[in-house]
Formats: sequence, C-alpha cells, structure tokens
Amino acid sequence: MAADRLRELKEKVAGAIPRGIQVRRIDFEGPLLVIYIGNPQELAESGDIIKRLAKDLRKRIIIRPDPKCLKPPEEVKKIIKQVVPEDAQITSFFFDDENGEVIIEAEKPGVVIGKQGATLREIMKAVGWSPKVMRTPPIRSKTVENIRQYMLSVKDERKEILRRIGEKIHRGAIYEEKWVRVTFLGGSREVGRSCYLLQTPESRILIDCGVNVSNIQHSPYLYIPEVQPLDSIDAVVITHAHLDHCGLVPVLYKYGYKGPIYLTPPTRDLMVLLQLDFIEVAAREGAATPYESSFIREALKHTIPLDYGVVTDISPDVRLTFYNAGHILGSAIAHFHIGEGLYNVAFTGDFKFERTRLFDRSETNFPRLEALIMEATYGGSNDFQPSRKEAEEKLIALINETIRRGGKVLIPTFAVGRSQEVMIVLEEAIRNKRLEEVTVYLDGMIYEATAIHTAYPEYLNVSLRDLIFHHGINPFISDNFVKVDSPSKRQEVIEDSSPSVILATSGMLNGGPVMEYFRRIAGEEKNTLIFVGYQAEGTLGRRIQKGWKEIPFPTNGKREVVTVNMDVETVDGFSGHSDRRQLMNYIRALSSRPEKIITIHGDENKCVDLASSIYKTYRIETRAPYNLETVRFI
Ligand SMILES: [Zn+2]
Ligand SMILES: [Zn+2]
Repeated sequence: MAADRLRELKEKVAGAIPRGIQVRRIDFEGPLLVIYIGNPQELAESGDIIKRLAKDLRKRIIIRPDPKCLKPPEEVKKIIKQVVPEDAQITSFFFDDENGEVIIEAEKPGVVIGKQGATLREIMKAVGWSPKVMRTPPIRSKTVENIRQYMLSVKDERKEILRRIGEKIHRGAIYEEKWVRVTFLGGSREVGRSCYLLQTPESRILIDCGVNVSNIQHSPYLYIPEVQPLDSIDAVVITHAHLDHCGLVPVLYKYGYKGPIYLTPPTRDLMVLLQLDFIEVAAREGAATPYESSFIREALKHTIPLDYGVVTDISPDVRLTFYNAGHILGSAIAHFHIGEGLYNVAFTGDFKFERTRLFDRSETNFPRLEALIMEATYGGSNDFQPSRKEAEEKLIALINETIRRGGKVLIPTFAVGRSQEVMIVLEEAIRNKRLEEVTVYLDGMIYEATAIHTAYPEYLNVSLRDLIFHHGINPFISDNFVKVDSPSKRQEVIEDSSPSVILATSGMLNGGPVMEYFRRIAGEEKNTLIFVGYQAEGTLGRRIQKGWKEIPFPTNGKREVVTVNMDVETVDGFSGHSDRRQLMNYIRALSSRPEKIITIHGDENKCVDLASSIYKTYRIETRAPYNLETVRFI
C-alpha cells in the first residue's frame, strides 16, 4: 500500500512538469521530493510551476540537476573564476554532490551574485551545478569544516538513509482513530535531561534527549515501553545544542535507533562540538562516558537540517516547523501540526522573550496553536531579572574594580550563548573606554563555538549583522580576545601577575577548564568570580553561589580543600532564559491563544508556580507534570 502511494505521488509530479523540462528521476530523500532534471538551465522559467505543485501536494519539492550532466569540479572552478570578477575575492569552493550545489565562499558575495543574480545565472548555465554564495567567515571553524568533509565521505550511505526515511514519511496515514499525547521522559519539575515523546497512532516523535547536568549518570527514561524498541521512534527533533537537550542523542544510535534527527544547521554544528567536548571532558576526569565518538558520527549521518519557517513532513501525520527561540545560536521553538488540521502543539525549548545582543526575541506568531509546552527556569513569582542595561553596567563595574586592585576575574560560562553575549558586551565597553583595556582569555570550547557563530550570520539579529557587514566591526574577532588552547598556556594565564578576565567552561563548575582556574585563584581576595548564568541544584556552582567557603576538591587522586577567599558575585540579567515577566508576557503576545499550557524545565516549585499563575491570569488550563506522566491532548 505504501509503495502504491509513493508511485501515485511520483506520477502526479511527473504529469505536472512542463514539457520542456527533462525529468530523469523522482526520489524521496528524507522529507523532500527531489526531481532530477537533465536541463537545469531551463530551471529559472519553471520556478513558479514547482511552487504551485508543492502547494497542491503539500510537499517540499526541490529540483536538482541530474548528476550525469554536472561538469567535474576542477573544470567548474576554472569556469567560475572566468565568469566572476576578480574583486569578489573567492576564497574557497565546496562541492556538495548530495544537493548538486557548488558553494562559493567569497569576501564579497554580492559581486559573485551580480546585478539581480545575473552572474549566478551565468554560472549555472555554464556548469549545471546550482551555485550558492556565502561570505567567507572571519574565523575558520574546524567543526564546520570537519562536518562538511564527513558528510561528503558518507554521501552514498546517506542517500540510502534518506531514501528509507522518505518512504516512511510518505507512506500515508493508516489508522482511523485519532489521538495525540505526550509522555514526559525527563526535564519535568527539574532542569536537565530534557526528553519528551509526542505520540499519535501513526507516529512516535522524540523531542530533545539531554543529559542531567548535575549527574551525568541519570539519563531520561528511555527504557520504558513507550519508546522501546528505540527503532520504533520515527523522528528525533532537537530544539537547541545545549547538552541538557541533546547530550544523549548518540546513545539512541548506540541502542538501536536508525531514524532522522531534525535540527537547525547551527544546532547541528554546535551539537557535535559540545558532544565531543562532553565525552572528552568526562574521559579526562575518569568518569564513564555514555557513548563513544563513533556514535556522535552515526548521529550526524542521520541529521536533516531545517531553517526557521520551513514546514516539513516528518511522519505520515506530523508536520514540523522551527521558529526562532532567541536563546542561543540556532535555538528553535518546535511547532507540530498534527493530522490535516487536527491539532497543533509547540515545544518552546529554552527561549528568551527579549531581544538580546545576539538574537531577536522569540517568535510569537504561529498559524495555529492548541497546546504549548514551555520552559519555567525562571518561572517563580520572584524570578525577575534586572534589565540587560543594568546587568551590563554591574558586570563592567565589577571587572573595573577587580582590575584596579590587580586581580583576575573568572567567569564560568557555557561555551555557547552566554560566552558570546558577554564577549560582545566587553568588546563594546573596551572600544568605548568604559572598561579598562584588559586581555580576555577564552578557554574551553568558547573560541570554536564563537567561530561557528561567525559562520551563520543570518541567525544573528539585525543590529549585530549591520555592525559586522556595514560598519566592518566584528566584535568576535577583537584583539582583546585570546584563545587558551593548551594546559601550559592555562598555567601561564594563572601565573601571570597582571589583571585579566577569564571566560571558561563549564558554566556551572561541574568540570572543564574552569575548575583549574577556580582551584588556583579562589584563595586570593583580590580576585573575583562572577556567575552570569543559571546554576542548577546539585552543581558546585550552586554551592559556591550559596556561600560555601570550603570546597573539597579532588586533584590528581588526592583530596584537597579549596578555601574561597575571592569575591563571589552573581550578575543576573544575562540569561538566555525568559524571566518571570517575560514568560507571562509571552502567553499574552501569542498570535493564537492555546487551550492548554504545560510547564517543564524548572525546579519543582517554579514549574508549579508558573502553571498556577498562568491559569489565574489567563484562565487557560495548565499542568506541571512529573517525569513518566503522560498527558492526552485529544
Ligand atoms: Zn539551553
Ligand atoms: Zn535547557
């Protein structure tokens, strides 16, 4: 039956394509219907027909040149160099066979594109490949390059994987009965190990699969019958790259899952970076790692990146659309449209309903929304954060004071998110002479994570893009930032007697390079430790924040007690999470009012408090479920 339906779809597509276009093959590749054509030059004229067809069939249809009519890469490079004026400054080519695309990186992408795309069209006519132009990123990211190379090396296997996934998605719905439910597998009434199962008679979709930040041995409840065997899951959807949302994704592949992972392109790159760092740090500290790096690669092989706003079939009865969440680079609100207009549910993931230095505020405009599953990190009635301006001023004042007394400032941060936010603030303050000239050291994965930010400028907010592209100021590459990339360099930074600012991972002092800085500089009163992010219950960060002065510290197998004499400060307001006011305002701002709201991702009392306040204010049904509970929506 599935095969019939697939054939039917293909026939429909073939019949609707204008005569002049030579259709060679029609394939399902993951959620896409791909039409391979023999004369891609004719493509420009047929653009509208394809759009109409996609709308009629409610499928994502794309056209690619038949690989047989693509010229070999070496020849293509030569032709492109002849066509494109030299002042475009092309820095590299990348051939993506999977999509029949040649990616041209240039210092001046506008010159490659030409007036109204004239040069691009000329390239396409001459070489057959579809040209895609990108700005040469100012910092090379090893992660981005390694991922590109890896995807290229597994392209045949990936074709097979995508075909298999595509046939499952397009098989058509089978069951008559309709219901929708969500099972909470982790991250409910707690922060960490976020994991949720969205289920219909046709589909099982896992949203996020994270580690527990305070105890990496505690995973989501993946052994319960609802998700077993793991290969019965149709799709995994990742809201963003923080480890409490994606740290255990490779475990799924270790224990039998073979399906796709949907995420935004930056989330894919950051996820790989953070997972590799996670198992490296754990191994270095002698902890058991839940998976090996081969499973990170296995997961990567199954990723299907989606940009914001692209509606995509991910199973016979579920369509997924990502929207900006404003939390970190690539972070997404995952919106699911179930059945043909049957039900709509969105998972906010972590979200920020305020414009930050890096991102626009989270999206509120959804075509339809019946249920919202939202985070409650700062959901308590007193969880108000100071404004960003106040936060920035306090941070700068604390650093200035510490510099003046000759001390060092240690800021534990997540590699992704707060680090870049703080970097932008510090760079601007130094440029405007509000902050004394000081070296800012970046240790851990911060530098590489920053490089990934520069590879995706289209995911940053308008004013940051404007600063970078129109004013030529890229705060990320300021000379004030110095990368620490070896243990010996780290010792140098610690032993150097001049004042400095150190940004190091992890953000909650539960491992990573920040530990060594802390151990060595905590004893001196002139130094300052500044928390700029959330400290989860059970982490060392939370204990120090609460005022613990004697910290037992395992060093090289011996137990040492570190005495905290340094100044310990918390600067609220840099959080990538919405505070209480923003959480409440978000509900009001939604373009369509949900019938049901569920609060997760917060300490128990915060989830409960937010749920009851939303009910009192808006008269919307709310719940703060426990882990292992299931809520039926329809
Ligand atoms: Zn997060
Ligand atoms: Zn989170």
